[in-house]
Amino acid sequence: MVCETKFYDILGVNPKATDAELKKAYRKQALKYHPDKNPNAGDKFKEISQAYEVLSDPENREIYDEFGEQGIKEQGGRGGGAGFTSPMDMFNMFFGGGMPGGGGRTRSKTKSQPMVHKLSVSLEELYMGKLRKIAANRDLKCSGCDGKGGSNVTACSDCKGRGVKVSMRQIGPGMIQQMQSACDKCQSKGEVVDPKSICKTCKGKRTVRDKKILEIHIEAGMASNRKFTFHGEGDHEPGKEPGDVIIQLEEKEHLLFQRHGTDLSMRIDISLHEALCGLKIPIQTLDNRHILLSTQPGEIVKHGAMKMVEGEGFPTHRDPFHKGRLIVVFNVEFPSQLNVEVATELANLLPKPQGKVIPKDSDVVKMADFDGQGAWKGGIDENENRHEDQEDDHEHQSNGHGHHRGPQCAHQ
Ligand SMILES: [Zn+2]
Ligand SMILES: [Zn+2]
Repeated sequence: MVCETKFYDILGVNPKATDAELKKAYRKQALKYHPDKNPNAGDKFKEISQAYEVLSDPENREIYDEFGEQGIKEQGGRGGGAGFTSPMDMFNMFFGGGMPGGGGRTRSKTKSQPMVHKLSVSLEELYMGKLRKIAANRDLKCSGCDGKGGSNVTACSDCKGRGVKVSMRQIGPGMIQQMQSACDKCQSKGEVVDPKSICKTCKGKRTVRDKKILEIHIEAGMASNRKFTFHGEGDHEPGKEPGDVIIQLEEKEHLLFQRHGTDLSMRIDISLHEALCGLKIPIQTLDNRHILLSTQPGEIVKHGAMKMVEGEGFPTHRDPFHKGRLIVVFNVEFPSQLNVEVATELANLLPKPQGKVIPKDSDVVKMADFDGQGAWKGGIDENENRHEDQEDDHEHQSNGHGHHRGPQCAHQ
């Protein structure tokens, strides 16, 4: 299920590690290789940080499992660069500032929360590439008052300018819990604006609404859930670093095709006539060409058969002329009834059934359609080919869902 295990190896965990195990591994490794403790560890601290950053984000972990480190690099957003958090920031975020039991507190100025948008994209856009523009609304520090809200601003008296109020609470004999709560008087801003001096531009809100047009360059073959990070293009609240805007692609369902990395799959319904006597099926590709699927004379397409066409799959990112496979699953639609004359005619034409000896004392029994009742639920649900003990199963052996993902990374 995993292509590449480097990041897991760096943290010393199994690729099936849970989030808790990852956390534990990062804690252990980061403490061991922190430059304060281990100045000669070289890049080890950075590697641990980057591995953890990727694997602790479920979406990134999925991309890594499927496409490896390259996949992560490719989704790093504008201007190449993988856009990793600095190992120190990562460490500080994890441990809440500074080395436990020593080391300097190096907490950086806080950033405004990132804005995350989903961008729905069609399979055609991912196939051919497309420039999409979206307008992101953001709050910017008001230039009229430099983000102060007014000209006469004083520290809040309730919280002494800290934005939070600290109270002690006795929770048991000799046990005191320190509680922090937001300050209502200043809405946790730490400052109050004199009503007479309120800024006219932002009406005392300190920020103004702004619209920013962001360009998203969707390249042919990009991962369907690729993330774009626009550093510092998000909200910019006073006293904070500008936040990021994160745009994540979301693949729209396609009527015909499903994407699996660089492979495409599709289901095609064919008639019994086509299955037995040959088929010619035109298909419109995602870049609007027409290709024709056809069988050789005498070739039979069985129900559930899977065929593939090399080079008609999905383009490889950054190598768009190199395409994967188009995998076609055939569904043969049998007629529900045959005209007796036709059946007789067919019986004369088709090869005779072999090897069935009917004992003379056989009782003829009535055969009805299975009603689905009772303990055995097999054969009536979607996964009709799951039962290995069915006689004709060898015909369906390749008709499983989802095991045609990538050439090296077969997901089960
Ligand atoms: Zn206050
Ligand atoms: Zn203002």
